[in-house]
Amino acid sequence: MKNDSPYLGDAFRDQYNAVNEEGKRNWFYPQKPEGYWHRRRAWFSVVALALLFAGPFLRLDGQPMFLFNIIERKIIVFGLFIGPQDYWLFGLAMLSFMVFIVLFTAVFGRLFCGWACPQTIFLEMVFRKVEFAIEGTHTQQKLLDKAPWTTDKIIKKVSKWSVFLLISFVIANLLLAYVVGVDELEKIITEPLSEHLSLFGGVVGFTAVFYFVFAWARDQVCTVICPYGRLQGVLLDRNSMVVAYDYERGEPREKLHKKEERNAGDCIMCLQCVAVCPTGIDIRNGTQMECVNCTACIDACDHIMDKVDLPRGLIRYASENSISEGRKKFITPRVVGYAVVLALLWSALGFVVATRTDTETTLFRAPGTTFVDNGDGTVSNLYTFKIFNKTNHEIKPKLVLEAPQGTVKFAGTPDLTLEPAGLSQGSLFVTIPKSEIKKRLTDVKFSVYRGKEKIEEFKTTFIAPQ
Ligand code: SF4
Ligand code: SF4
Repeated sequence: MKNDSPYLGDAFRDQYNAVNEEGKRNWFYPQKPEGYWHRRRAWFSVVALALLFAGPFLRLDGQPMFLFNIIERKIIVFGLFIGPQDYWLFGLAMLSFMVFIVLFTAVFGRLFCGWACPQTIFLEMVFRKVEFAIEGTHTQQKLLDKAPWTTDKIIKKVSKWSVFLLISFVIANLLLAYVVGVDELEKIITEPLSEHLSLFGGVVGFTAVFYFVFAWARDQVCTVICPYGRLQGVLLDRNSMVVAYDYERGEPREKLHKKEERNAGDCIMCLQCVAVCPTGIDIRNGTQMECVNCTACIDACDHIMDKVDLPRGLIRYASENSISEGRKKFITPRVVGYAVVLALLWSALGFVVATRTDTETTLFRAPGTTFVDNGDGTVSNLYTFKIFNKTNHEIKPKLVLEAPQGTVKFAGTPDLTLEPAGLSQGSLFVTIPKSEIKKRLTDVKFSVYRGKEKIEEFKTTFIAPQ
């Protein structure tokens, strides 16, 4: 976002804070965050983590409520199974999700990053809390890293790394529980390991990845790797709500000198907002891609404002326009446009879900064939069929010719039993008495039954002599 403050330049954008002038990593030691927003985020994180860990255990109709098995192309969202045949459903769901993200970001900025992103929750609310508990304050952490390898340092570091490894192992299991389901994961414990080497390999591999992410990569996941973070430049506009420094009120910044009349702005240059920032930026420079909206600088600045008896909110949730023009405007033409597109996509998605059938059958006349006059007053057509199971349950379908009257005879004895997301295919003859046929091309109606329940209807055409 453009920085309109007369006091601030854009030179800070030429440098990436996480890398020093020698090209080496700047390791950040953010001060422990405390305050109004942090407490609320902590409670929110507790609820979010509880839901995240409960997710794989929730079941609906005997199947997981959530499953993201990309390898076998089985996805279940809120109990709705999305199989390989649901390309419309999958496409619309992905498109709706993306438009929702664009709309949400245009209005609320990176609220998701600060409050609900698993990376932020685990890093700020779990791993860093462990770090503060074992290694002490940010200053003590810094001193410990510089100190020689004494017994005390070895104990602290090994304890921290062990706890980090354990938490990474738990997160790896959680991720795999969402991918393969808790039942599969349980097999590693209850059955010989040699039978589940690939799954066990997945647990070990993901444990290593999460350990790397939370013990080493940390803020760089948000500032360098995350594509959502990279897109902020195009998703945000001057009306988006972000964590922002009120330069109209804060500038000109100046240190506070007791017993001196103050003509400067409210920023007293204490740098507390920088000290708490987990991505090492100075929010007073304006909105930056590195800002994950964690609210730590809001709390830090509010604390200082309380101390110097100035109103809170020098750093707060605000849009650029609300600061520069005093104008709060969340509903802009851009937001309305996104909302309309999203409403249309959700309507289409609702229609696809409501009209979705448990099976999808295709029945085409065998290539190169027309009809067979049986000489007994009936005509037959040869078809090839495919029946897809669009559920996560086994189905034993029955194909019934509804109209006109006739018979269906399968070539051979195909097993129509459909595995979850499975397919059955083969050939069949449809035979219809000539008395039922009025023209050369007749519509024939089929239904697919599961027991007595009709689960699909479809039509095809039947050729007969003139
Ligand atoms: S914490 Fe507030 S007063 Fe201190 S430097 Fe940051 S913006 Fe200025
Ligand atoms: S600038 Fe403030 S909100 Fe943004 S990452 Fe730093 S501390 Fe968090």
